[in-house]
Amino acid sequence: MKLDISLFLCNQESRIKDAMKVIDNNARGVAFIVDKRNRLVGIITDGDIRRILLNGYGLNDNLKDHMRREYKFANVSTPLNELKQLFSQRVTIVPLVDDYGQVVDYVEYDKNQRIVVAQPQMSGNEYQYLMDAFLSTWISSKGEYVTRFEDSFSKFCGVRYGVATSNGTTALHLALVTLGIGPDDEVIVPDLTFAATINAVIYTGATPVIVDIEETSWCMSPQAFEAAITSKTKAVIPVHIYGQPCDMGAICDIAKKHNLYIVEDCAEAHGAEWATQKVGSFGIISCFSFFGNKVITTGEGGMCLTNDENFKNKMMHYRDHGMSSRKRYYHDVVGFNYRMTNLQAAIGVAQVERIDEILKWRNSIEDSYYSFLGNIGGIETQHRNLSNRKKIAWLVSILVDASKREGIVKALEAGGVDARLFFTPLSKMEIYSRYAVDCSVSHNIAERGLNLPTTYDISDKNIKKIASIIEENV
Ligand SMILES: *Cc1c(COP(=O)(O)O)cnc(C)c1O
Repeated sequence: MKLDISLFLCNQESRIKDAMKVIDNNARGVAFIVDKRNRLVGIITDGDIRRILLNGYGLNDNLKDHMRREYKFANVSTPLNELKQLFSQRVTIVPLVDDYGQVVDYVEYDKNQRIVVAQPQMSGNEYQYLMDAFLSTWISSKGEYVTRFEDSFSKFCGVRYGVATSNGTTALHLALVTLGIGPDDEVIVPDLTFAATINAVIYTGATPVIVDIEETSWCMSPQAFEAAITSKTKAVIPVHIYGQPCDMGAICDIAKKHNLYIVEDCAEAHGAEWATQKVGSFGIISCFSFFGNKVITTGEGGMCLTNDENFKNKMMHYRDHGMSSRKRYYHDVVGFNYRMTNLQAAIGVAQVERIDEILKWRNSIEDSYYSFLGNIGGIETQHRNLSNRKKIAWLVSILVDASKREGIVKALEAGGVDARLFFTPLSKMEIYSRYAVDCSVSHNIAERGLNLPTTYDISDKNIKKIASIIEENV
């Protein structure tokens, strides 16, 4: 429970016993000592007082002569992630001062706080734009932020048009419907992906064909893709898994040769590149997700990108109930309501403004993990230097021995650290198993894979702690 700051304050002209009363009152083991203008001049803890008394001083001695003059404090405007760096085994409460040095607040280390896998970071204009959209009363899917978000995100990816959707799954479905995919068609998907990829295919009535992944990149194997092509194949959905781009050179060549559509699933790889070109710019349509744990977020949200004006118009049409653009409340196709709200888009606009910065901190977290994990035997980190590929850091991903994985997760859990297992391969789930061809590589990778926390405020200290828990259990 957060206490009123006054419960921590003790005037520097008082005596040791007065500080004891303050500490007794707040039950936090510490008093902040201030001058008569409320400016912080010292700190005293219950441990300090015990030592003072044991050294023969009395309860009526002057506080000023015994308080600590060296201590941790911070300005109240300090971002939370910097404040967290001040905590240690001994320092669990830190006073916060304003620009005049007056004590105005405190922060306390929460022992029960878990290190979670992912967390949105919204410290830019997100709140301001969201309030702006809110106050404008344009809180449904009309309003300027939707087009601003579509324009800025498609520009970031180097693609002409963006069509924002309610989430990444509806983006995939919208793309497939727009391409005319339906019953009698086959669509090829990789075995290691989130279920939404294959579900979107099934919604259309088409038959998904699940193929194996590459051992190095964990992405769809171009060879397996080509081998699975039949006369019914209409499209392929390469998934840039855990931030790693697929081999788009090979996949584009094969798709071209067999006259197939490419629909990229970029839900986990905003900003990743193949041969210096951003993912999302290879497919005839590409789909992104902005769910809360993705690289950038709008809460729930998605987007389709395309360079094709005709497909862009068709997607907008299907997204908006299939309502005729010439005649209101006249519907010429069975459409959907897959729109994004102006509120979501407002957050998205602010996220795109900072996407380079977000990718940078994600990358530096991965750097830090790799430096601590690098020398541990029995761990394989996700490849970062495959030729032509520039991966981004979504969740830091590693492989361990399959027999050790459960023990590692349990040990991390006991240390307050959340970790995630890799996705269950599609072919290993009963409802999808009949669509699969041999996926032994994917099975092997998936049973060894772990995703580690990649939150923006994770400290090097915590990364080191995670690495050593892994090392002890690997
Ligand atoms: C998250 C995700 C999706 C679905 O996105 P939602 O916005 O959650 O619907 C699709 N494909 C992959 C690979 C994903 O990781």
